[in-house]
Amino acid sequence: MNAERSHPFSLAIDGPAACGKSAAGRAVARRLGVRFLDTGTMYRAIAWASILHRINPTDTAALTELAESADIRLAAHADGDRLMLDGTDITDNLRLSEVDGIVSQVSAVSGVRRALVAQQRAIACRGAIVMSGRDIGTVVLPNASVKVFLTASAEVRAARRHAEMRQEQEASDYKQVLDGLRRRDRIDSKRDDSPLRQADDAVMICSDDITLEEVVIKILGLAQQC
Ligand code: C5P
Repeated sequence: MNAERSHPFSLAIDGPAACGKSAAGRAVARRLGVRFLDTGTMYRAIAWASILHRINPTDTAALTELAESADIRLAAHADGDRLMLDGTDITDNLRLSEVDGIVSQVSAVSGVRRALVAQQRAIACRGAIVMSGRDIGTVVLPNASVKVFLTASAEVRAARRHAEMRQEQEASDYKQVLDGLRRRDRIDSKRDDSPLRQADDAVMICSDDITLEEVVIKILGLAQQC
C-alpha cells in the first residue's frame, strides 16, 4: 500500500448476492489492518426500517425521507460488527427473509442511494478502508486504489448460502435460496441508478473453484501491487 497517496487507501469489492464479498472483505481488511464496511447492511437497515414504519416499497418519496433521516451507526465488536439504527441495535434483523424480499426494491430508489452513498463516501474519507457492495468501484469510490469484481455461479452461491443456513440451524430450501438470489441479482443489475456491473478497471475473481482463503490471498496480492 502506497502511504503517499492524497486519498486514503480504499479497496472496492463488488459482486452479486452471496458471492462471499463480505467474508473476503472482512478478512482482507483485518490482514491489512484497515476498516471494513459492508454497504449491503446499510441498504438492509433502510429496508428493515421501511417494514417497521409500514412504508410501501413503491413509495419512493417516503423511502427517500426515511434514508435521509435515518441515523445509521456501525460499531465494531469482537464478535462481529453491530448496526445501530436511530439508537437501536438491529443487526439480528438485517438477514430476515422479509428484508431479503424487499431490499433490492428499496435499493433501486435514487433518493435512498443518494443518502447512503454520501455517508459511504464520508466514511471512506476518514481513513483506509475495504468496502463491499454493488456500486463501490463504479459510483461510490470510482478512484479506489484497488477494485475487485467477485463472482461465482448462481448455483454455487446458493449452495454455499444454503449450507451456511443449515449450519446455523435455520430452515432453508436450496431451490428457494437459488430463486431469491437470482431475483435480487436481476433487480440489482437492471435498475437505472447504479446497477450492479463490473467497473472497467476492476479485476474479476471467480470463486467457483477456489476457497475463501484463496480469494483473500488473490485480493491481498492486488493490494500489494498498488
Ligand atoms: O450485499 P447484500 O446482499 O447484503 O446487499 C443487500 C442488497 O442491498 C442488495 O441485493 C442490493 O439490492 C443492495 N445493495 C446495493 N448497493 C450496495 C450494496 C447493497 O444496492 N452497494
